[in-house]
Amino acid sequence: MIPDIDGRNEHAPLRLASEFIVVGSGPAGATAALRLARRGARVLILEEGEAPPDPAEPSALRAMSALYRELGTSVAFGNLPMPYLQGRALGGTSVINGAISWRLPKRVAEEWYAVDPALEEVLSYEAITRVTEEIEKELSIAPTRPDVAHKKNLRMAKGAERLGIGHRPIARNVSGCIGSGRCLQGCPHGAKLSMDRSYLPEAQKLGARVVSGAKVARILHDSRGAYGVRGMLLSGERFEARAAHGVILAASAIGTPLLLLESGLRAGPVGEYFSAHPGLSMTALFDEPIEPQRGATQGHEVYGFLEERIKLEVLGFDLGLILSRLPGHGRTLAENLRRLDHYAIYGAALRAHAKGRVRSRGGRAEVRYSLEPRDLASARRAVRRLGELFFAAGAREVYPGIPGFRSVLRSEEELSAIEREIPLDAKRFTMSMTHLFGTARIGSDAEKSVVSPRFEHHRVPRLFVVDSSVFPDNIGVNPQLPIMALAALAAEGIAG
Ligand SMILES: Cc1cc2nc3c(=O)[nH]c(=O)nc-3n(C[C@H](O)[C@H](O)[C@H](O)COP(=O)(O)OP(=O)(O)OC[C@H]3O[C@@H](n4cnc5c(N)ncnc54)[C@H](O)[C@@H]3O)c2cc1C
Repeated sequence: MIPDIDGRNEHAPLRLASEFIVVGSGPAGATAALRLARRGARVLILEEGEAPPDPAEPSALRAMSALYRELGTSVAFGNLPMPYLQGRALGGTSVINGAISWRLPKRVAEEWYAVDPALEEVLSYEAITRVTEEIEKELSIAPTRPDVAHKKNLRMAKGAERLGIGHRPIARNVSGCIGSGRCLQGCPHGAKLSMDRSYLPEAQKLGARVVSGAKVARILHDSRGAYGVRGMLLSGERFEARAAHGVILAASAIGTPLLLLESGLRAGPVGEYFSAHPGLSMTALFDEPIEPQRGATQGHEVYGFLEERIKLEVLGFDLGLILSRLPGHGRTLAENLRRLDHYAIYGAALRAHAKGRVRSRGGRAEVRYSLEPRDLASARRAVRRLGELFFAAGAREVYPGIPGFRSVLRSEEELSAIEREIPLDAKRFTMSMTHLFGTARIGSDAEKSVVSPRFEHHRVPRLFVVDSSVFPDNIGVNPQLPIMALAALAAEGIAG
């Protein structure tokens, strides 16, 4: 997509004005902006990142450097240093995500209502379902077709079927996917309906203006409320934007609390209650070629362990990245290289209980997050579940990737040693986070939440938060569709 203003090419200070300013152009910001534009509002979208390269960057590393925040090296510190990944581009993280689209589970919404009944009035499950269905239609969300699934996905289906656990092709927001397996680097064929290929251009058609390379540094507010933002363009020039009706934050569960803190808005639990779905992955070797680089990046999932707070998914990576995950060196590595297309990688996402914190350290996010013992028990169980699934799918060898534990497993029996031999020590696990929540919670109590059930800051009128910062807790499933649903409902309320 082409931004209306590219901050890289602006060589004088910029002053802008609109009715609404939306900070961040990911699923939350793009959805809110489009919904407001559809109701005739004038909207200005400010995005720190740039337009994704078109055509897409073929090298995985160069794509990551163009599209991932800090090249994918952001790390949360706690009992286990854990990378957290985020996109920084027009379209936000939707540009580099797996396109997996899940509805908000009803029982999760009910958990929220139980804690704060006021939420049910504004975010009733009927309302969430209504906007979710609209989004599903608009973004062509449908189960992965068998002809683009290819072997890694079909193998998981086979394994899950053998084990008798709930599984299904993943529903994704794609149109014309040919299974090139590169979702996480930005779809090379434009088949993923990420925000830069869907909601943002549609919002532009309705008059919204999109500025890329514009990093908001401060929210401007006085006793009457929020009236604008100030920041820096990629060219190094400053910009200021005024909003007549409201400033809407959608800078992610990390970027939004950072912006609030940097703007002196520290009241309430800003940056607290950070929650996530830590993910771990495992690699396995099959006798026949799996060609893991082919087929839908993430086309199949196991939902049968959601009650255990575990969700399993196929992961598709570039062959170079797969190589970096294989055990061995020297001759063993050469052998691994020879059979590189015989590997598959499956991942597990955990609905962890842990709560962390986001703080600002010199304007940069400092994330603290330590897994609880019960989360580590889930992680260990997830390793076992992944191993069982791989063996049921026909794997010859499974690599658990846990330091101090057997590096290669060849049977279910060896797998069963996991509980006996792996202590609940965080440092034994290698995990990362891609689903982040909770750092500017929604709620009716201004001491326990940052925004009201109408998504408005408890203390600053006309300042709204619409991204997953507002989620009262993690949700156990892939969040982009629930994020869009809540942002859509927020926008309906904001537009009045
Ligand atoms: C590798 C990966 C794969 C994933 N796969 C899936 C999946 O398949 N399905 C799923 O449901 N979820 C997936 N997710 C998670 C999902 O993409 C995110 O939860 C979702 O995009 C969050 O939406 P958001 O709008 O809140 O934030 P983001 O999408 O992160 O967008 C926030 C935007 O705000 C911008 N921003 C931040 N600070 C500022 C500032 N100060 N000024 C201006 N702009 C700013 C950022 O640059 C960014 O573009 C994945 C995540 C990753 C990292």
